[in-house]
Amino acid sequence: MQQECIFCKIAAKAIPVNAVYEDEQLIAFADINPVAPVHILVIPKKHIANILETTPDDAALLGHIMITIPQIAASAGLAEDGFRLVVNTKDNGGQTVYHLHYHILGGRFMTWPPG
Ligand code: 5GP
Ligand code: ZN
Repeated sequence: MQQECIFCKIAAKAIPVNAVYEDEQLIAFADINPVAPVHILVIPKKHIANILETTPDDAALLGHIMITIPQIAASAGLAEDGFRLVVNTKDNGGQTVYHLHYHILGGRFMTWPPG
C-alpha cells in the first residue's frame, strides 16, 4: 500500500467504501463524481500506478480484472445496452489518480470520439 494513494486507502478500507463487487484481488465502487448514470471504478488492490507500469507478473491479475469487469457491468444492468470501459493513462489520457483503475460508464449513449 502506498501511504498517500487514495485508492490504496479505499482498497484497504482505511476510507469507507460501498463496494459493488469485491474479491481478494480487486474492488469495484461508484465514482465519487459520476459522469454517467452508471459510473463504476474497478481497481486492483495491489498498487500499480497505471497500465504503463504493469509487468508480465501482473498477467493473471489483469486477466482476472478483464474477466470480472463484464460480470460487474452485467450486475449493474449494463449487459443489454452496453457500456464503455476507459483506462485514462498519464496526462494526455486525463489520469488524475495514479493507481490503476478502469471506468465502467453506462446508462446513456457515449459519443465518439471522446473529448
Ligand atoms: P482518472 O481521472 O484518474 O481516470 O479517474 C479518477 C476518478 O476517481 C475520477 O473519476 C474521480 O471522480 C474518482 N475519485 C477520486 N477520488 C475518489 C474517491 O475518494 N472516491 C471515489 N469513489 N472516487 C474518487
Ligand atoms: Zn495505490
